[in-house]
Amino acid sequence: MILAIANQKGGVGKTTTAINLAAALAQKGFSTLLVDLDPQGNATLSYLDPEQLNLSVYEALVEENRTLKDAVHKTNIKMLDLVPARISLAKFESKLLGDIDSHFRLKDRLKPLSRDYQYIIMDTPPTLGLLTVNALVAASHLLVPIQSSYFALEGTDDLLETVEKIKARPNPTLEFLGVVITLHDKRTILGRDIRNHIKEVFGNKVFRTIISRSVRLEESPAYKESIFSFAPHSTGALEYYKLSEEVIGRV
Ligand code: ADP
Ligand code: MG
Repeated sequence: MILAIANQKGGVGKTTTAINLAAALAQKGFSTLLVDLDPQGNATLSYLDPEQLNLSVYEALVEENRTLKDAVHKTNIKMLDLVPARISLAKFESKLLGDIDSHFRLKDRLKPLSRDYQYIIMDTPPTLGLLTVNALVAASHLLVPIQSSYFALEGTDDLLETVEKIKARPNPTLEFLGVVITLHDKRTILGRDIRNHIKEVFGNKVFRTIISRSVRLEESPAYKESIFSFAPHSTGALEYYKLSEEVIGRV
């Protein structure tokens, strides 16, 4: 499975979901690759120190005769590898402008790796630009984190429209795996209303597992750990573990 985690809104839990879902799958014994496609490199810095970085995804995507294999890094988590991003990735769009294969670059350069990993998880930037389009073209499945907030559904129309365009041509087999509600506060009436509203809009696409707001989830990247080693008994660990089971079950 090649899973793109996307939502053009920032701060909705894309990176938190990518790093912990990838860790959960690796911990279950699946060979897993996390690909950071956000120039901010938050997923990268959740597991690696800047000085540990060699080749990043940018060079692997733009330099001649390279594939993503050249940029694979090991992490401290057994079974989890990472293709890191640096701020240089922000140049990707202008670099590829006008190239005939600009939408397919990631798909092509990921191909040599697809047999090495059972799960490839891609974290994307908060835009619907060329990097996110490349992720959606390369992906077999899409997972959309939606923050449990009053403005939660703002912008999802644009995302779904982009997905339909990509399904129409470059990637007709792309499957919308589901929506995960994140940063949820189940104690408030507003939280409950928002959850119900998201369920009305997305129906059975909404994962049963809801990710609650939890300080532990916010803290773990600072210690270069997944939630499972940082706070194994926290609600965040339990919820991301359950989400990983649902993801496995939906394929
Ligand atoms: P995105 O990648 O969509 O921009 P992030 O995963 O980086 O979103 O989350 C935005 C901020 O919210 C980060 O500081 C992150 O640590 C925090 N965060 C994400 N999910 C949770 C959660 N369930 N509980 C508490 N904080 C969270
Ligand atoms: Mg992010």
